[in-house]
Amino acid sequence: MPELPEVETVRIGLEKFLVGDSFTSVDVLRKDSVGYPSIKDFVKGLTGRSVVAAKRRGKYLLIELDSKAGLGVHLRMSGRLIVADKKHRDAQFLRVLIKLKSGRELRFEDMRVFGRMWYVPPGEDFLTVIPSLQELGPEPLDGLSPDYLVTAFKNKKQAIKTALLDQTIIAGLGNIYADEVLFQTGIHPLSLAGSVTEKEAAKLVVAIEETLRKAIQHGGTTLRDYANSEGVNGNYQNESWVYGREDKPCRVCGTEIERVKLAGRSAHFCGQCQKKLRARRK
Ligand SMILES: [Zn+2]
Repeated sequence: MPELPEVETVRIGLEKFLVGDSFTSVDVLRKDSVGYPSIKDFVKGLTGRSVVAAKRRGKYLLIELDSKAGLGVHLRMSGRLIVADKKHRDAQFLRVLIKLKSGRELRFEDMRVFGRMWYVPPGEDFLTVIPSLQELGPEPLDGLSPDYLVTAFKNKKQAIKTALLDQTIIAGLGNIYADEVLFQTGIHPLSLAGSVTEKEAAKLVVAIEETLRKAIQHGGTTLRDYANSEGVNGNYQNESWVYGREDKPCRVCGTEIERVKLAGRSAHFCGQCQKKLRARRK
């Protein structure tokens, strides 16, 4: 599942290979992939537009078009957004195909069809077309402060891992990087979010920034020519501390990495290196 670093890698690819190009034709092969407006207006609105900028907020890609129109994209579970040569790929999971003036194609592929594209007509904006953008917490790479985290986690009875995944607290952090961040800070994923102190929050902020920046750099180096949302998770996994390493020895102490179910996801951790925080006394 693409997380912030993967989406940022796609954004960098779009900035490089899509900005300045324009849409000559739009084909929607799967209706469910379009979130707004109608298919007819989606096709009509996008056709002929040129791409001005590629931005990101959380895990949303916000592609700015001429005449103040826009194209929002969320990859969700399995979506991929690729700028490709025509002969580049097979069409198995192709959901939306946009032909470009340069002769390339912008392809939205999505095996599980949870991903969405939204057209934002001139006069409307991303925030009203995609209301969930309004609920996103701050960007983790935009100077997150320990104070903010302590306040956001205060009185939260949920596990810290669950709180880190809450997009209204921090935008864009997902399962892989939340596990990695907690390992690096030595905090057990089942610790109560409300027990995080200023000192631990400071460590979390550093670990979040370092982990995400490293993953973006890693994605950036695998980005050869096109917006590459595949393979980044897989590559990262080879060097992860805990994510995807159940029953394997901890890279620090050799203890077997454990995995527990948590709020419908799983958390990976080292029981030796990561300690449960003690609840603060009121
Ligand atoms: Zn360990």
